[in-house]
Amino acid sequence: MRRRAHLRLVTSFEGEDTTLTAVLSAEDLAEELGLDPHARVTCGLHRCWLHQCVASPDHVIPVTGHRWCRPCRSPLEVFVDETSASLVCPVCGTGTPDTAANRQVVRACRTSIAASHAQ
Ligand SMILES: [Zn+2]
Ligand SMILES: [Zn+2]
Repeated sequence: MRRRAHLRLVTSFEGEDTTLTAVLSAEDLAEELGLDPHARVTCGLHRCWLHQCVASPDHVIPVTGHRWCRPCRSPLEVFVDETSASLVCPVCGTGTPDTAANRQVVRACRTSIAASHAQ
């Protein structure tokens, strides 16, 4: 793999950024070719791992239901730990309202957390 060879050349403190940059550009391209933007593990808007910016208001998308509680018409709060993420509605207290969109947010965050640890 060309990318792996390249990774060995960088110093350790730059390693994570290099991984991020590689995945970011790969996903930018994949998105142009039809990858669902919500399936990304990096953020095309904030240019970081998804779990690092998913708490931003930019990631609340009422139209699609991502990070959104439909019954309450309210954005979900995000809690990220070492291995996973969870979504909680501050209005009704529901943990990760069981919709395809919210499950997708959690799944993408899990993958993003794992990818950011994989060096
Ligand atoms: Zn973002
Ligand atoms: Zn709610």
